[in-house]
Amino acid sequence: MLNILRHIIQEVAGAQDFSEALDIMVKRIANALATQACSIFLLDRYHGEYVLAATQGLNPQGVGKIRIPMTKGLIGLVGEREEPINIDDATKHSHFLRVAEAGEDAYRAFLGTPVIYHRRVLGVLIVQQEEPRRYDESEEAFLVTLATQLAAIIAHAEAVGVLSKLMENSKDKRHDLVYSGVPGSPGIGMGVGVVVYTSYDLDSVPDREPEDIEAEIALLDNAFAAVREDIRLLSERLYPSLPPEERALFDVYQRILDSADLGKEVADNIQAGNWAPGALRESIQTHVRRLESLDNEYMRERAIDIKDLGLRVLAYMQKNSRTMPQYAEKTILIGETVSPTDLAEVPEGCLAGVISSKGSSNSHVAILARAMKVPTVMGVSEAPLHELQDKEIIVDGFYGQVHVSPSQSLRMEFERLIQEEQKLDAELDEIRDLPAVTKDGQRIGLLVNTGLGADISISLAVGAEGVGLYRTEIPFLMRDRFPSGEEQRIIYRQLLASFAPRPVIIRTLDVGGDKPLPYFPIKEDNPFLGWRGIRITLDHPEIFLSQARAMMRASEGLNNMRIMLPMITDVSEVDEALRLLKKAFMEVRDEGCNIEMPQIGVMIEVPSAVYQARVLAKRVDFLSVGSNDLTQYILAVDRNNPRVANLYDTLHPAVLRALIQIVESGHQEGKHISICGELAGDPVAVILLLAIGFDSLSMNASSIGRARWVIRHITKKESAKLLHEVLSMENAVMIRCHMELALERAGLSGLIRMGR
Ligand code: PEP
Ligand code: MG
Repeated sequence: MLNILRHIIQEVAGAQDFSEALDIMVKRIANALATQACSIFLLDRYHGEYVLAATQGLNPQGVGKIRIPMTKGLIGLVGEREEPINIDDATKHSHFLRVAEAGEDAYRAFLGTPVIYHRRVLGVLIVQQEEPRRYDESEEAFLVTLATQLAAIIAHAEAVGVLSKLMENSKDKRHDLVYSGVPGSPGIGMGVGVVVYTSYDLDSVPDREPEDIEAEIALLDNAFAAVREDIRLLSERLYPSLPPEERALFDVYQRILDSADLGKEVADNIQAGNWAPGALRESIQTHVRRLESLDNEYMRERAIDIKDLGLRVLAYMQKNSRTMPQYAEKTILIGETVSPTDLAEVPEGCLAGVISSKGSSNSHVAILARAMKVPTVMGVSEAPLHELQDKEIIVDGFYGQVHVSPSQSLRMEFERLIQEEQKLDAELDEIRDLPAVTKDGQRIGLLVNTGLGADISISLAVGAEGVGLYRTEIPFLMRDRFPSGEEQRIIYRQLLASFAPRPVIIRTLDVGGDKPLPYFPIKEDNPFLGWRGIRITLDHPEIFLSQARAMMRASEGLNNMRIMLPMITDVSEVDEALRLLKKAFMEVRDEGCNIEMPQIGVMIEVPSAVYQARVLAKRVDFLSVGSNDLTQYILAVDRNNPRVANLYDTLHPAVLRALIQIVESGHQEGKHISICGELAGDPVAVILLLAIGFDSLSMNASSIGRARWVIRHITKKESAKLLHEVLSMENAVMIRCHMELALERAGLSGLIRMGR
């Protein structure tokens, strides 16, 4: 069985298109189970019906036409129960539904299994036979296994837009396309899709209509010629020292490039209406798919060669092409992984929204987008990225949804929401200069998280009382080498001077995990549990010291700087960092710089630091909770993985209890306790953080207005009561609902949508 399974999967992977893949599947399954019929029904959620998508044994004319209501028949029952149904005589079953055009009258035996992807029913896979019989356990297991494979194929077809086309063809109705992800940055953005991709990711190259076919063909020819020359030079250089088998590799490359086929195929794709990089992607993908589906391991390896060549050609196309991304006046930036530099490259005032198919709301690009107030949806893994170029798009950063080619009525609805949002913003603006104090007089500091120079004016405009977290990695990420000490000093000085006399907490370099520096690559199996944050900088004291000196020199005459250490898991790290900071201080002082030793703080981001918060607090001047990482490590949920994004909730009771413990421990040592993760900017959480006793909250500039509003409309006593109530609850969903209800009762429901 295992062998048959492998063969089917390989053959299906080599299919030219989705329909062929389904056809191969039903034929091979029917054969393998020696049964007369095998069919695939796909769920058309929009119309609430299962559509016959492929069959062996039912009426082939019914493909795309036979539709069964979602709640009817045995097919509906399999989907509803979400488990296989195996019956010897289907005609006797109470759910049996006779579909005249299907031609299934003769069949009795029925085995159907749901096709489920990420908890979502996508369709039903069935086998049937004339003689009544019950399929045995191994046959059922075989079908279930294939259904999981089928699920991935269907999900991919959905992702590349094939499925929606198929559904549209089979029922002639158009509708708005909606793709779901997770909210990355609140707000609604309307504009035109611009897909960005990197030269090392061929699969994310979008389709685009060529402006000038001749020019695209010339681009293709030149890129091929350049790669041919590169390979020739490479082989010339390496040939003498290579054994004959390895030399053959270069010959293979040359042969692929010289064969008229590949070049001609790409040129044909251009003629058919795709620009050169898109046309290249189409051809390379077809070859790779075909090679990867072959049985022969040697041939499968050739897929890697084709991919490599494709990337080389693409790199030349990008280099030679005059037209790099053409940003629209209202650009919706789309990419598999949108990087901070992609964001920065969009001309000022043109960025209306961001869509990233990878990452989640706690990815750094989402944090940046929030700081820049750009509506963003992350983890939109099922959207056909390369088809979104030049499409009209609405990004709903509140609910994490993307609407493609919206209808007139939908557009109007969103325009109304944008107006409401602006109205609320104006109201928040009115209290901008008032302190964050509760109705019964409890004051709490509201500071801003930043990392981009451009944020400074936004942060000042929202009335931030200082900077609670300056992420120094952002200027590091935006360069192609480590910034020099002087370059750093200038950046920090500008920041400190802009906020003085307000306090500014600068965090030492926090890279690793999901923030690799392009010029300092780290390859690890498990980067979030690996070399990141303070672990890297303590292993590289030269980087740490250069940064510490730059910070201290920058603070001369201002003395509003504080330094914070990220990812502390052990007291020895604090001791070592303090030793280095004192060393830097002495050196800078000896150089004649007139500064005071800055206050030092520790971030509480991992469970070990929660349990040792008191001894950590003893050593430093303040603690600040990094709730993004703390949640990730307490719940063991990758903050960037959209597959588990539903499990990542900072209002989890375990996280709340950790926060209480941290604040108690820090206050026992008489130290200032702040929180600077995204939780601090969530209006629902603000009430609880106030009750827990945080001295200050640090958040994105875009959240400060709402946090101030909430605090000014509640009493500390009410917040304490709410905290008490939620602490008896067992999960984050209940806690969030309870808090949202409380906000609604207080007449602050407008903030809920905004705060998501
Ligand atoms: C955090 O982890 O909560 C935090 C503020 O740091 P970062 O998001 O930069 O990892
Ligand atoms: Mg962190």
